[in-house]
Amino acid sequence: MRLDVDGGQRELPPRPAARASVALGSQGAGACPVTARLSKSKVLAGQQCSRRLWFTCFASELAAPPDAGQDAIFETGAKIGRKAHDLFPGGVLVDEQDFGRALTRTRALVADPTVPAIFEAAFEHDRVRIRVDVLERLADGEWGLREVKSSGGVKDVHLDDVAVQQYVLEGVGLKAPSLELIHVYTRYVRGAGPIDWRLFFRRANVAAAVGARPVQVPALVAGLHQTLTLAEAPIVEPSPHCWTPYGCEFWGHCTRDKPEDWILHLPRVQAARMEALRAAGVERITEIPDDFGLGAIPARIRAVLQSGREFVSPQLGSALEGFGPPAFYLDFETMNPAIPLYPGTRPYERIPFQWSLHRVDRDGGVTHRELLADGRSDPRRVVAEGLVTALGGNTDPIVVYSSFESSVLNDLAAAFPDLAPEIQAIRGRLRDLLRVVQAHVYHPDFRCSFSLKSVAPALVPGFGYDDLEAIADGGQASAAFARIAAGTCPPDEDAQVRAQLLAYCERDTLALVKLHQVLRRLCG
Ligand code: SF4
Repeated sequence: MRLDVDGGQRELPPRPAARASVALGSQGAGACPVTARLSKSKVLAGQQCSRRLWFTCFASELAAPPDAGQDAIFETGAKIGRKAHDLFPGGVLVDEQDFGRALTRTRALVADPTVPAIFEAAFEHDRVRIRVDVLERLADGEWGLREVKSSGGVKDVHLDDVAVQQYVLEGVGLKAPSLELIHVYTRYVRGAGPIDWRLFFRRANVAAAVGARPVQVPALVAGLHQTLTLAEAPIVEPSPHCWTPYGCEFWGHCTRDKPEDWILHLPRVQAARMEALRAAGVERITEIPDDFGLGAIPARIRAVLQSGREFVSPQLGSALEGFGPPAFYLDFETMNPAIPLYPGTRPYERIPFQWSLHRVDRDGGVTHRELLADGRSDPRRVVAEGLVTALGGNTDPIVVYSSFESSVLNDLAAAFPDLAPEIQAIRGRLRDLLRVVQAHVYHPDFRCSFSLKSVAPALVPGFGYDDLEAIADGGQASAAFARIAAGTCPPDEDAQVRAQLLAYCERDTLALVKLHQVLRRLCG
């Protein structure tokens, strides 16, 4: 089950420099070398938040470690970066990790007119160090700066990234008027053979867009150097800026003392209105004035937290009409590989590889079925056929949590027209329990979240996910199966990972069964 997928095109910021080549190591609070250098990733971190930059340089141990899903995204990004080199035949890689040696090698390659392109070229100006993904030699002594991203398009943060690099190149006297962002072309369809990397990428001319960005790089860099002279981390209050453009790895540290009912946990409140509350000194949801004008769900959350009593609407019973039992309870697991694994699939296309299906009979009897594809070939057909077999010839409702399963079924119907009538019939039987909970129930232990992993443990005594090993959310399941499918999961781990995947998906549909039982009891 994936409620946290943003269109499948997740991209992380560059790895913090403390984990890659570093201009500054973690030196502990109070260490403020005035000659400290910035890397490109640190400039972008500092542009987001000066406190984040300071922590990155002097207290990186406070960062949350990346999880398996994030690691997989980093690895994919690195592979895509290497494959982009294929677009520049004859290019030479600066593979020196030591920055000083990389500078020397880069200088030599720049001076060699037979080198058409340099990969990972190193430059330093104004105490900012960069490694340029691709520096392409053009005519008349000019260069083209090519930044490679694993996303499916150009984002503002990419433009700022290029602007920082252009500032450094100009600073060292290199003319690079041609600026391109090389990104994944999401309409590319993998053929029967290996990936055609020339079709996989798109080259976007971003020179005009970079010039139009409001960021003033010299002033930005000067401000960030100033930040690095501070003996203590600057005080910055956590706010929506902590997630834009990337989620900050210091979020847990910065919010460790916030109350459980901190206003930033409140869903469906616009940033400007949240800012108004903060400016008025309101920190807790329970302190929000009655006349503040919250929407229905935030207002309900405030009322429940103020009273300490759960809310159950009188309409819950009628909202549950049509949900059975008898009923089925369905959950898919999917992956969105940036590099398509199977012929006929596109980058970031959602690929279902597993389902879990509980069944509750009219007399309360519970049975379970499941399917986990082997991953060696496109799993979609076996997933679709298995589900049609399990659910066809029946009209009982199928309980799900969110519109995710409906959307996955729609994809499958489009992919397999011969199965479409049966798949669409299954889709027509779906009943979304999330919408019922959002409209009719709130418990203080939901902690401002309607995710199944918040709602089920709050309403079902003793139920939880804490005992699951290794795979306990959709991102981890996706990353685990992608390793199996790509053949990078060691054979001696394969059976264990598959068992973990089955246990996790079964837990989600069992959560639906238990939650439905509790909701039926709540409305008598
Ligand atoms: S969590 Fe927010 S305030 Fe704290 S360092 Fe990160 S971006 Fe800055």
